[in-house]
Amino acid sequence: MKIRYFILPILIISLIVLILVSDENITNREVSLVNGQIIYPYFGKKDIDKYIDNYLNECSKGDNFLVDYDLIKNNKLYYLTFYSHSYNDNTISNNNSSFVIDLKGNTINKTQNISYEYDFYNYDVKNKNTKYIALTFDDGPSYNTNKVLDILDKYGIPATFFVLGKNIRENEDIIERMDNLGMEIGNHTFNHLLLTKKRKDKIKWEIETTNNMIFEITGKYPSLFRPSYGSFNKKIKKVSNMPIIIWDVDTLDWKYHNSEKIVERVVNKVRDGDIILMHDIYSASANALDNIIPMLRQMGYTFVTISDLFYNKGITLEKGKVYGYAR
Ligand code: ZN
Repeated sequence: MKIRYFILPILIISLIVLILVSDENITNREVSLVNGQIIYPYFGKKDIDKYIDNYLNECSKGDNFLVDYDLIKNNKLYYLTFYSHSYNDNTISNNNSSFVIDLKGNTINKTQNISYEYDFYNYDVKNKNTKYIALTFDDGPSYNTNKVLDILDKYGIPATFFVLGKNIRENEDIIERMDNLGMEIGNHTFNHLLLTKKRKDKIKWEIETTNNMIFEITGKYPSLFRPSYGSFNKKIKKVSNMPIIIWDVDTLDWKYHNSEKIVERVVNKVRDGDIILMHDIYSASANALDNIIPMLRQMGYTFVTISDLFYNKGITLEKGKVYGYAR
């Protein structure tokens, strides 16, 4: 027999085998449901596809959002799982529905339905267990501020700077750098006067002028106020119309000019939720900072800005109120 007599039968047999092996002709379908679109597998089997259609329609009712699916083949059976979720107040409910599909037997069976929930507030609960600390630097910007920024940048941590309007002049680039590095910029008045002795319109001028100067550079108005010397009264609270941020750990850097002593004070006094007062205008403060950061990190503290400190602790800052820590 010549070889050419085999060619046709072999081709025909190959084709039959191919059809038998690939009896599954699964394609994708995109359907629009009540809550958006989903792409799902289309098996080309009337009963099975109809069953899935019904499931998807049922599933998309209410606040349920279908996400996607996973399709696995194992021992000639298909295992199909749909993933969906719904939002309810502060909870996300996840739903995984699984089906076993036998294309040969033309059957589909729901095998399991796994639901689990998690709280939107889980994140905050976790945050509440994290130890947070906010470093604050007053009285700048000055020549030395760049040294402080270098160190913060080196460790990749944020801090809050309460700046003086009178020092912003000629130091606009430092304000810009603070902003670019993700530092928070707060208002520390224009002239650093004892405001409790001043008239309302003077207090207002001190605050507004500084706020405007910061806005000119960063495009953002500060949302925090720290009165000079940390002194305040009813009048200042009212006129400022901003949350007043003081501190609970005073490094006394302005008094000591001793970087070792500054480190010691911080490490011995620090507690979760603390606001630490330093001054970016002193070299000793910058030198201390280079040690404070790794030491406090080792103690498990995460450095954040003032706004993030209160946010993470679930405390809403209110205008005219005074805050010395976040606990
Ligand atoms: Zn000050």
